[in-house]
Amino acid sequence: MSDTTSSKGRARWLLIVFVAVMLTVSSVAWMSIGAGKAVSQQAEELAEQRIPELREIAELQSAMSDRVTQLYLSYSTGERLVLQTQYTERAERVHLHVDALSRLNLMPEKRQEFLAMVQAFDLQAHRFDQEMAKGADRSWDMLREHLAGAQSVIDQMTVMLAMWRDEISVTAQKSGESALSEVGRLTKLQLGFSIAVLLVSAFVLIALYARLKDQDELYRRAYFDGVTGLPNRWKLEQQLQIKLDQHGTGCLQILRIDRLKIVASTYGHETADQLIQTTARWLQTRLASHNIPHGLYRLNSDSLAILCEQSAARADAERLAQDLASISNRPFELGERELRIALDIGIALFPGDGESVSCLVRNADAALNAKSNGIHYRFFEKRMTDDSAFWLSTEGLLRSALEKQEFELHYQPKQSTDGSTTKGSEALIRWRQGDKLVSPALFIPVAEDSGLILPIGTWVLYEACRQWRAWADSGLPFLPIAVNVSAQQFQDEAFPALVADALQQYAIPQGMIELEITEAVAADHPERVIATMQQLKQAGVSLAIDDFGTGYSSLSYLQRFPIDTLKIDQAFVRTMGSSPEDAAIVSLIMSLAKSLRLKVVAEGVETTEQQEQLSALDCDLLQGYLFSKPIPATEFALRLQSTQSASQ
Ligand code: C2E
Ligand code: MG
Ligand code: MG
Repeated sequence: MSDTTSSKGRARWLLIVFVAVMLTVSSVAWMSIGAGKAVSQQAEELAEQRIPELREIAELQSAMSDRVTQLYLSYSTGERLVLQTQYTERAERVHLHVDALSRLNLMPEKRQEFLAMVQAFDLQAHRFDQEMAKGADRSWDMLREHLAGAQSVIDQMTVMLAMWRDEISVTAQKSGESALSEVGRLTKLQLGFSIAVLLVSAFVLIALYARLKDQDELYRRAYFDGVTGLPNRWKLEQQLQIKLDQHGTGCLQILRIDRLKIVASTYGHETADQLIQTTARWLQTRLASHNIPHGLYRLNSDSLAILCEQSAARADAERLAQDLASISNRPFELGERELRIALDIGIALFPGDGESVSCLVRNADAALNAKSNGIHYRFFEKRMTDDSAFWLSTEGLLRSALEKQEFELHYQPKQSTDGSTTKGSEALIRWRQGDKLVSPALFIPVAEDSGLILPIGTWVLYEACRQWRAWADSGLPFLPIAVNVSAQQFQDEAFPALVADALQQYAIPQGMIELEITEAVAADHPERVIATMQQLKQAGVSLAIDDFGTGYSSLSYLQRFPIDTLKIDQAFVRTMGSSPEDAAIVSLIMSLAKSLRLKVVAEGVETTEQQEQLSALDCDLLQGYLFSKPIPATEFALRLQSTQSASQ
């Protein structure tokens, strides 16, 4: 949960940085375009306007001085012809340049003054020409005077043109300078732009790297187990699929660590985790010594799997399994503790034992779960799945069984420790198929997988209440009936209301219906579990933890649960006579229950030795084949009546 939040936070942060960098890049690019435009405008103005102006002025100056030169030439040679032939042409040139300058809109306010000067020059030139035309009567003094007049006009015009030229040069220089500064700005902006582009690339690289890391992390979480670091079930299925696609040969061994759950509930999860880590390391070393290409996987809390390639030989697989099963001879030291574990191994060979991944896994599982007779490894045999394969395909049958009311409840008595008195019963469902009764161990998992457990569980609850009322009405003593509740029912929000309704419908007194919840259900989300338990208690039922000691529930939660009873799992009862460790666990559970003021029921009691041992430990109630198997309701009533009359 917190990982998702932090990755969301990181994504938001990356987005903000990305937007900021992109905005910077865009504005820098925009400014560069602006600066570039300014530079080109300045350059254009220089090229299109100022340069023609300067050229025109230069031309005009040369045309004017040409004309003065003509006058001097004419005066010095006394030839009027020179003047006449070129005069008109030169005058036209001057006028053309003046027109061009006024079109360029150069100094419009001085234009009149300049034209007046041109006319004044024309006048002096004209007078000079007329004086020359007098031939021998010409007055050289007059000629000199006109020449001086023309020269003075030319001087004034030259000064004026020089002023114009200077002004134009200054303006041009200014626009050149500003173009130059624009060029400088442009260069800086270009530099900024390059840095921004670099930033974007770096950002994209970082984002890509982060994403790759995320993907790595996701991949690791999806395909590897966090505790052992081993590849997990999905990875195994992937690898197995590859082998099958390549028509490879090999074997799949599924290993269950026998006492891991007990270790977890007795010493805590940390110790259990350490134990599985140590076991995994030990297995790796053993596997390496067998020289068979292999992979070791963790399937779930207490199961591992080995996929061996290129070796379909049963003998190889057997030698390996035999070796691995020898782990039970070897104690593991975890801190100050010395723990022993046992491995159960189920083996499926491929391609012989299954053509698909799911079939091979199922068959190796079936071999693992088959009756052991003290042998710790078993090869798959077809008969092992005949039953379960049938049931797996019968979800539809279950549905119709519910409609056709093929389910019935059998009742197993709970006895006082001396066995003399029945103190209650547990309702256990059966599926009647003609003469045959089908065990819940076979169909409850299918019902749970398909969700059918909800309507089936509801039926069980109402049927148990109905039966309690029927027995009470027929005069039998009021004895509590225990009903098994599966995880899905317990987690269903409507469940407490359903229970209240069933109790009310059959007017069941407080505590006469007991709900048995497995330890695994109680271990999930303790706060929510406590709230549901409180609602159920308020509805009027009592609560028991079933199969106690096998699950992962932490003992610290136990005191916070509003429960009344602990049912010790059959596995401990079965082995407490032979295993001092299991006997110690039973006694530990017993003293824990006493200190929490909980009742203890031992299930699976089959021998009088077990009965004696449990009663010595001050167990409250016993349940098991020693007293009675689960029996139909009518039989249970008869049994009650007979023990009642016997005691009277
Ligand atoms: P459980 O609740 O732990 O029930 C005890 C199981 O142990 C019963 O098996 C019972 O017949 C069996 N048993 C009792 N005494 C002995 C004994 O001395 N020796 C041996 N070997 N076995 C003994 P059953 O009836 O096959 O039920 C198996 C499991 O199916 C139950 O375990 C319970 O988890 C589940 N189950 C049964 N009925 C229902 C139900 O109505 N709803 C749900 N959700 N689960 C049910
Ligand atoms: Mg039970
Ligand atoms: Mg049980």
